[in-house]
Amino acid sequence: MLLERPGAPLREVTLPRPVPGPGQVLLEVRACGVCRTDLHVADGELSDPKLPLVLGHEIVGRVAECGPGAARFARGDRVGVPWLGWTCGVCAYCRSGRENLCDRARFTGWQLDGGYADFTVADERFCFPLPAEYDDIEAAPLLCAGLIGHRALAAAGDALRLGLYGFGAAAHLVAQVARHEGRRVFAFTRPGDAAAQAFARELGAEWAGASDEAPPEALDAAIIFAPVGALVPAALRTVAKGGTVVCAGIHMSAIPSFPYDILWGERTVRSVANLTRQDGESFLALAPRVPVRTQTEALPLARANEALDRLRSGRLRGAAVLLPG
Ligand SMILES: [Zn+2]
Ligand SMILES: [Zn+2]
Repeated sequence: MLLERPGAPLREVTLPRPVPGPGQVLLEVRACGVCRTDLHVADGELSDPKLPLVLGHEIVGRVAECGPGAARFARGDRVGVPWLGWTCGVCAYCRSGRENLCDRARFTGWQLDGGYADFTVADERFCFPLPAEYDDIEAAPLLCAGLIGHRALAAAGDALRLGLYGFGAAAHLVAQVARHEGRRVFAFTRPGDAAAQAFARELGAEWAGASDEAPPEALDAAIIFAPVGALVPAALRTVAKGGTVVCAGIHMSAIPSFPYDILWGERTVRSVANLTRQDGESFLALAPRVPVRTQTEALPLARANEALDRLRSGRLRGAAVLLPG
C-alpha cells in the first residue's frame, strides 16, 4: 500500500521485491501495526517523507534473505523492525547514548519504506528478536506503542500517581506496566468516550474520565499521547508541585498560552522523541514478565485506509494490525 502524496489515500500497487543491501535483511512481513505517526505522515503533518512511501514501523517479519555481510540473523528468524531505522553512529548524540536524537537518523515508514507491504528490507542492527510469548499480531504493537510508551514512562520518573491522556495503543500498554510497577493510573479520554474509559478501568486504571475533568486527587506525572496541544495546560493543572508532563507524540497541535502559576512549583514539561535500541531491548525483555497483553484488531493489508480512518476518528480499541496476503 503506497503513499504517493500526503493527503491522498494509500493505493494498492505491485512493486518489485526489494533487494537487501549490505547489512540489511529482506523480510517477509507477517504483521504490521498501525501507529498514529503513520497518520501524521499520511496527512502531511510531518515534513519531508520519502515519496512515494510505504508506511509502517511496527513490523513483524521473517528473514527471507540476508544481504551482503548481514550475519546477525538466519533465514526464517522472526524479527521486529521499529521506527528507528538507521543512525550515523558518529554524531554527539549517537556517541552519548542518545541515538534517538541523531541528527542524521532515518526512520522506518518516513524516510525508509516500511511494513505496509508483503516484503521490506531493514538494517539488521536495528531489528529486534521478539519474545516467543507473543504471536505475530500480538507482537506488532509492542514495536512502537510499547517502546515509546516505555520511554515515556521512564521520563515520568518514579511518579506514583500517573495520568495518561489519550487511551489508545500506547496508553493501554503503559497502563499495564505502570500497574505492574505498583503505580496508580488515572486515564483521560475524549469527553464522552465511555468505551475508552471502560477499557482503561479494565486495564487497572482506578479512575477514568474526560480530558477536561479534574482527577480525584493531584497527580505526580502525566503522559500525553493524544496530539492535542491544549492538553498540555490541562495536564499541568492536574500535576502536583514537582510533577512532570511528558508529551509522547511526534506531532501536536499548537499549545495555547497558559498562566505561569500552573508551571511554577518546579513542574516540568518535556517531550519524548523516538527510541534507542536500548529502549527496545529493555522493553521487549520486560513485556513478557508483566505480562503486557496487547489488545489488537487485525485487518487485511488491503484495508489499510480503513484502519487509518478509524484511528483518526478514535474508533479503535487498542491497536490495529495489518496482515499481508
Ligand atoms: Zn548520529
Ligand atoms: Zn509509532
